[in-house]
Amino acid sequence: GGTIGVLGGGQLGRMLALSGRAMGYRFVTLDPTPDAPCGQVADRQIVASYDDAKAAQSLAEQSDVITYEFENVDADVTELLMRQSYVPQGSKLLYTTQHRLREKRAIEAAGVQVAPYAEIASAEQLREAVVQFGTPCVLKTATGGYDGKGQWVIRSLDEVEEAYDTLSRAKTELVLEQFIRFEKELSVIAARSPRGEVKAFPAAENIHINNILHLSIVPARTSESIQQEAERLAMRIAEALDVIGLIAVEMFLTRDGQLFVNELAPRPHNSGHYTMEACQTSQFEQHVRAICNLPLGSTKLLTPVVMVNVLGQHVEPLLDWIADPESERQPGVTAKVHLYGKQEAKHNRKMGHVNVLADAPEAALQWIEASNIWKTNQ
Ligand code: ATP
Ligand code: MG
Ligand code: MG
Repeated sequence: GGTIGVLGGGQLGRMLALSGRAMGYRFVTLDPTPDAPCGQVADRQIVASYDDAKAAQSLAEQSDVITYEFENVDADVTELLMRQSYVPQGSKLLYTTQHRLREKRAIEAAGVQVAPYAEIASAEQLREAVVQFGTPCVLKTATGGYDGKGQWVIRSLDEVEEAYDTLSRAKTELVLEQFIRFEKELSVIAARSPRGEVKAFPAAENIHINNILHLSIVPARTSESIQQEAERLAMRIAEALDVIGLIAVEMFLTRDGQLFVNELAPRPHNSGHYTMEACQTSQFEQHVRAICNLPLGSTKLLTPVVMVNVLGQHVEPLLDWIADPESERQPGVTAKVHLYGKQEAKHNRKMGHVNVLADAPEAALQWIEASNIWKTNQ
């Protein structure tokens, strides 16, 4: 038993709370939006901004253990929470993963390769680095980016000034990365507990549309040795960074079989939603187990699966599909729908996901094609 406090009230917190409640834990969440996805299923929601010290204090008082569902937690808030309650994930992991340069250095220190990169402090420096890396290359803000926001793919030297001016408005350091001509994008979620136990979930093959995750395919359509290498690499990072809880590791796989880590997330990850029905333990249960110092669960894959995200534009066709008894229902395919309880179905907003279970990923992909739900506005 006990109460788990969650900083952030989005869908990751919601699924964490749903999972943790089934294990007998109570949940309190802190989020500025009333009726947030996590608030709807938690025992209580504190409605306040994340940097509100009084609210953080209240979260600490009500919680036996505190975790977060996003990595941009204010350092002062983390300090306060660590003084007033128990934050097993600590502040160092947040400090590292909040900042692309610190994160890349930590990955390299773990003996894992990242795409060649350079810290950029001026337009002249950017020009030199673009010449060195060649085009295309990717300029990114060091902090705050998600779904491809805060990035600029530089395709020619003519774009240097505009890219620099635009991204430097974010008032954070900039980093230039060589463009990796990847064959596939993979991700692995690993968990580590305070007693030092480490487990990785099976590698997912991820397909993005407009920089937003569209599909996670498991098993990834690549050799078993590459899947194992990806999983080993994620576990190595979990150990080197003294992770408690989950760490999601996004990677690029090149044609010649090399893996480059793109970025990390110290929390449940969209590309791990497939675990909810397809693995013996879900990523959410695993995170609860890790932060509560329970033994980690088996990460065994029970069935091939494709996770497909439901964005705002997909909600209507999905609801029609659910309601229509004549809908395409493919033998051997089971579609498990998850919706996050968000009211406004805005374009490209993550509203839910569907885990499509089948005998092979190809059958799940066929079902997704045939359903017509994801034809809209892509
Ligand atoms: P997320 O929503 O995953 O947090 P983000 O905004 O932090 O996204 P990244 O994951 O860094 O952004 O990049 C988004 C996508 O852009 C990647 O998944 C990949 O498809 C592409 N990309 C980013 N960096 C590179 C690179 N160096 N080489 C090739 N493609 C890249
Ligand atoms: Mg990111
Ligand atoms: Mg990413």
